[in-house]
Amino acid sequence: MFKRKSKKVSEQDKKKDDIKGLWKKCEKCANVIYNQELEQNLRVCPACGYHYQLNPYERIQILLDPDSFKEQDENISPVDPLNFSYSGTTYKAKLKESQINYNSKDAMIIGKGKIFGKSIELGIMDFRFLGGSMGSVVGEKFVRGVMYAIKYKIPYVVISASGGARMQEGMVSLMQMAKTSAALNLLSDHNIPYVVILTHPTTGGVTASFAMLGDIIIAEPSALIGFAGPRVIEQTIKQKLPPGFQSSEFQLDHGFVDIIVERKNLKETLFKVLNYLYDW
Ligand SMILES: [Zn+2]
Repeated sequence: MFKRKSKKVSEQDKKKDDIKGLWKKCEKCANVIYNQELEQNLRVCPACGYHYQLNPYERIQILLDPDSFKEQDENISPVDPLNFSYSGTTYKAKLKESQINYNSKDAMIIGKGKIFGKSIELGIMDFRFLGGSMGSVVGEKFVRGVMYAIKYKIPYVVISASGGARMQEGMVSLMQMAKTSAALNLLSDHNIPYVVILTHPTTGGVTASFAMLGDIIIAEPSALIGFAGPRVIEQTIKQKLPPGFQSSEFQLDHGFVDIIVERKNLKETLFKVLNYLYDW
C-alpha cells in the first residue's frame, strides 16, 4: 500500500542531503542555500547577507595574496596548569581532540603575508578550537605577532573570534589580557599600526583586551561583539535588552567600532586603512 512520507522522514532526507554537503538552511533567514553558492560568495548568505564563520585558512585565502602566508611559531603547545577536568572529561583530552580535528596546536595562528604586494603580520583566531578561547598560547602568539611586526616594521592585523578567556587555564588565561594589552603599548611606541577585524563572535576577555585596542577597529556585519553575552546580562539586570544589542551595527553607533565592512570588500578596505596609517 502506498504510504505517504511522514514529515519526519522528509526532514531526515533533508538532513541527509545536508550531510552530503549539497545545501544548508540559512541560520539567519532560513532560506535554502546551496553550499557551492555559499562558498563562491565567501560564506555569506546570498539571500540575507549573514556572514558565516570562517576558519583561519579560509581567512588567509580571502585576505592575503595567494601563497604569500608563512606561518610562524606553529608548534607552541598549551599545558594544563590546573590539571583541569570537568563534566567527565579533562582539559588535556579536549585539547588533544581539537588539535587533531583542526590540525593546529591552539586557537590562534600567526604569520607574515602579503596584501596587494605589501607585507603584514597577521594573527587569526580559530573559533572552532575550544571556542577561540584565550589561554597562554593565544596570548603568547599574539605577543609574538607584535614582536614580528616590530622586527620587520610591518603593520599588525588581527582577526578576532572568541568566546573569551580559557577558563580551564584559570589565572594564566586571565593574565593574557594584561600581557597582550602591554605588548600593544610597545607596538605603539614603535609607531606601527595595529588593525583589528572583529568577527562573529568576539566576546569576553578578548573583547576586554586586544580586540578593542585597534588603531582602527573593523567589524564584519551582524557580528556579536560584547563582553558578557546578552543572555547573561538580561538575567543579571532583569531587563529586556534593545534589539540588535551587541551587534556590529549597535557597536558602530556607540563608538566601539570604526567601520563595518562586508567580507567581499575586506581585503581592499584593509589595504586602504593600512596605507592611510602607515608608509611601508
Ligand atoms: Zn540567510
